[in-house]
Amino acid sequence: MRALVFYAKNDVRLEEIPEPEIGPGEAKIRVTYTSICATDIEEWQFGPTYITSTPTVMGHEVSGRVVEIPDNISGLSVGDRVMVDNVLICGACFWCLSDSQATCPNMEVAGLGRDGGLAEFMTWPADHLIKLPDAVKDDEAPLLEPATVAVHAVRRSGVRVGESVAVLGVGTVGALTLQAFKAAGAIVYAVDVRESSLQMAARLGADEVVDATRGDAGERLRELTGGIGPDIVVETAGATRTPLDAFDWVRRAGTVVLVGIYAAKPEADFNVVVGKELRVIGSVAAGTGDMAAAVRLVAEGKIRLGDLVSAHISLERVIPDGFERMTAESKDVFRILVSPDA
Ligand SMILES: [Zn+2]
Ligand SMILES: [Zn+2]
Repeated sequence: MRALVFYAKNDVRLEEIPEPEIGPGEAKIRVTYTSICATDIEEWQFGPTYITSTPTVMGHEVSGRVVEIPDNISGLSVGDRVMVDNVLICGACFWCLSDSQATCPNMEVAGLGRDGGLAEFMTWPADHLIKLPDAVKDDEAPLLEPATVAVHAVRRSGVRVGESVAVLGVGTVGALTLQAFKAAGAIVYAVDVRESSLQMAARLGADEVVDATRGDAGERLRELTGGIGPDIVVETAGATRTPLDAFDWVRRAGTVVLVGIYAAKPEADFNVVVGKELRVIGSVAAGTGDMAAAVRLVAEGKIRLGDLVSAHISLERVIPDGFERMTAESKDVFRILVSPDA
């Protein structure tokens, strides 16, 4: 089969490799679509960072159809449409047993150590394949993975109905985070510097969009919140300045949730955290149940994925039409879907 294999930084190859064979408890899927994530591009440009063994088939946002499943596994049948719940935890460590599965040190993730979905076929533990309801379309299903990251961040934030939330950065994860906060009953302000992102935020139901290139965005957020600042600020941009903006713009005794992955390290004045008695929360990947919740929210129309699909490409074109397009200065896309059949 054809597969996109990571060997090292700047060394990702489209190769012909043997089809994977199922191990105990596993099913084999024919990949329908896999979406390209900023993490894939960071691995290609700077990795291996999260990739734990090489060579490895890339792709961690994957949906497919079951083509092979052992008789002794119930709940799934050949032909079922499924989403890959891509995080495997050990289930036995301190963190797994204390409901903090996203920090399991023995975690394995599809496409980052175990072979992923930028390929024709993939094998995966059957109990980590989630059957898709009809309401979730094939060509949007892989975005359930970043939607799961968004659901996890909302759950980590501890938001309560009626609270105000500013989402900094409306890329794919930001756009999904704003929808998940809306679903949780928050009033959501979206802040970005790109016109296309602000338009997307408005279309997806942000209560207000704030263009950070025009005037003082922190001042605007205070205006919107009766002069005190949002209860929660979520940073999804991963830029150098934005975590510091989050500390500055959140209200006193508010909550900052950091979701972005930071390439550069800012010089932070932590006195602002101390002086304002901020609660600063990191949120990474997902825990048990987060993907099932994301599937329900999408199926009920509370999170929309389709608007965030910007292009469809073939496996052969991942590097020129996927990775390179997403790293261009004039990045004009949210998610790009890859099909092995295109
Ligand atoms: Zn991702
Ligand atoms: Zn564990």
